[in-house]
Amino acid sequence: MSNSLSEKSLVLLKPDTVQRGLVGEIITRFEQTGLKIVAMKMAYASKELAGKHYAEDEKWLLSVGEKASKAAMSRGEKPAGTPLEIGKRIRTQLMDYISMSPVVAIVIEGHNAVLTVRKLIGPTSPENAQPGTIRGDFSHETYVMADSRGRPIQNLIHASESTAEAEREIKIWFRKDEIHSYIRVDEGLIYR
Ligand code: GDP
Ligand code: MG
Repeated sequence: MSNSLSEKSLVLLKPDTVQRGLVGEIITRFEQTGLKIVAMKMAYASKELAGKHYAEDEKWLLSVGEKASKAAMSRGEKPAGTPLEIGKRIRTQLMDYISMSPVVAIVIEGHNAVLTVRKLIGPTSPENAQPGTIRGDFSHETYVMADSRGRPIQNLIHASESTAEAEREIKIWFRKDEIHSYIRVDEGLIYR
């Protein structure tokens, strides 16, 4: 965690959030922490954009595949391939999911933005997400449900997992001049 007041996180309200009419409800959660929205738009992700967001990066594919393998083993199932194979399969599914209908892309800024946003959204699968988190409150999705249907876990939201991931992702969704700089009235208190 850095001491920067301008740390940024890229958040996507995925198609299930938009289709279920939960956009306002979820944005409110971020605003209430005192973190600042500095960019926001509704966008239809093309396959190209989806492919850039879920990049063919071996490290990320392995991390997604390993998480999925562990989840399969913890429910007594044999993982459906090597972590890399699983990661690649999930990436293909994610590219369809994210471009299914519009998403809302948001840049959220403030001290400890990345970890705060991740804490608010909860873990990847809503079945493991506590009440009070976005994934825990607005979904009852499970790994079993998603995997048995050959689709990604519909977990409402994407959020950067690190500042490096945020930096890479923000460039994909926003031009520099779409990211705003302004002072919220409560910052005088929060950052005094
Ligand atoms: P996140 O950062 O919490 O969103 O999770 P990851 O970066 O590990 O995975 C990216 C996305 O892939 C998740 O948000 C899910 O939509 C999907 N996903 C991850 N793991 C699995 C899995 O084991 N099965 C399925 N069907 N989808 C998964
Ligand atoms: Mg992730």
